[in-house]
Amino acid sequence: MVKHLFDLVRANLPADPAAKTFIETAEGTRLTYADLMERSAAYASALVDLGVKPGDRVAVQVEKSAEVVFLYLGAVRAGAVFLPLNTAYTAAEIEYFLGDAEPALFVCDPGKRAPMEPVARAAGVGQVATLDGNGRGTLAEAADAAGTDFADVPREPDDLAAILYTSGTTGRSKGAMLTHANLASNAETLAETWRFSADDVLIHALPVFHTHGLFVATNVVLASGAAMFFLSKFDPKQILSLMPRATTMMGVPTFYTRLLKEPGLTPDATKSIRLFVSGSAPLLAETHREWQARTGHAILERYGMTETNMNTSNPYEGARIAGTVGLALPGVAVRVVDPETGAHLPADAVGMIEVKGPNVFKGYWRMPEKTAAEFKTDGFFITGDLGKIDPQGYVHIVGRGKDLIITGGYNVYPKEVENELDALPGIVESAVIGLPHSDFGEGVTAVVVARADAPGEAEMLQTLEGRLARFKCPKRILFADELPRNAMGKVQKNVLRETHAQLYQG
Ligand code: AMP
Repeated sequence: MVKHLFDLVRANLPADPAAKTFIETAEGTRLTYADLMERSAAYASALVDLGVKPGDRVAVQVEKSAEVVFLYLGAVRAGAVFLPLNTAYTAAEIEYFLGDAEPALFVCDPGKRAPMEPVARAAGVGQVATLDGNGRGTLAEAADAAGTDFADVPREPDDLAAILYTSGTTGRSKGAMLTHANLASNAETLAETWRFSADDVLIHALPVFHTHGLFVATNVVLASGAAMFFLSKFDPKQILSLMPRATTMMGVPTFYTRLLKEPGLTPDATKSIRLFVSGSAPLLAETHREWQARTGHAILERYGMTETNMNTSNPYEGARIAGTVGLALPGVAVRVVDPETGAHLPADAVGMIEVKGPNVFKGYWRMPEKTAAEFKTDGFFITGDLGKIDPQGYVHIVGRGKDLIITGGYNVYPKEVENELDALPGIVESAVIGLPHSDFGEGVTAVVVARADAPGEAEMLQTLEGRLARFKCPKRILFADELPRNAMGKVQKNVLRETHAQLYQG
């Protein structure tokens, strides 16, 4: 196992770096592994010139471009801690992140410099630089002027390489501290498990401020000396046009449901692809089946989170079972325990999923109490996800622990109700939430996206009453055109809870 994250790149460099494409953009620009080495060195030098020291955070809120990858690798080479931020965050939100992380440098889009600079200065950030979606800005200029040789700053495996703030769909974002060893080990494990090689070409249409696009996708490419189409946004038609020149794609479930709407999605269009991977949110079993029927490919679903990198994966060879997130990855231990007592649960029993392994983060930035509360004494991390492990070892996710609805003293797992709703004719998808209710504490409530042929609320409720214990049945079923989702395609139940907070309040 490599110790310094950049050694992952060095260990897998092609024999002739200048002859091997690393990134090809939508516009057809090709950047090679030689460009990667030079440009990451230039960014490392530029960061040092700006006063960034080993261990300093480099906070980055910029649009996706190849330069962001070089900046990420430059930060790692300089011994700094890369801290990417969602491009959707407002100045008020950025104020929180900068105040919390106290970076030495904040890199933002040139167009946002005017509102962001005072925010950064107020948070005590020493330097502000810019980088735009075309990879230009004051930081790129500094890199242009810097040398292309750089001696990597030595780091220990346990030193931080990155901080990623949790997406905060359930509360205030926390900074997950990820070490060199966390990131390098998971990249190596995934590259091996998914049989990546230098012959692979990955379609990369994910954002790079999140673990999926930055670590799963980019690091796996780096760990195998492969190439990627690096696309600034998800455009199904563009992706279909690139597929004949690619071998793999990683996406969130929304990528797959949107591609299924394209008539051009055929076995022929996907015949050069050897692997489709999905994660970050549950892939509906129906999407898995439809995809297989349309293309002949079984999507490989895996499960991970910001704090842990990837924990489980359906097998490369062997059954990829729809509706499951597969088996524990090599070196990763996964168990299910009773959330109240901590007792280990047998196969098929639903409880809290806990994980342990070299992939699991070091803790929450400057939150020792929160960190202590989320780790068991034997080193297992409490994921907050509820699920079960079947007798074959496949992990099934049932929902977030915080999703659990307690109504009249009874526990209701939203996923169970959602599965029943999704099985009704005309229902596209559903989200079940608990809303404040004077009698029950929480009232089970469903929000559904339905086609015109779907039954009405009363008819649906009647059908559900025949299938679910009465306490699990929604008190109301609300209709929506779509469910609110974050950038990674996760349904934002907190938004639904806020929107409908008054439903049972008279
Ligand atoms: P994030 O930290 O933003 O990557 O979110 C991690 C959370 O996404 C996990 O704790 C799960 O709740 C959810 N998640 C990720 N992958 C899957 C999956 N394949 N199926 C179901 N939920 C998933």
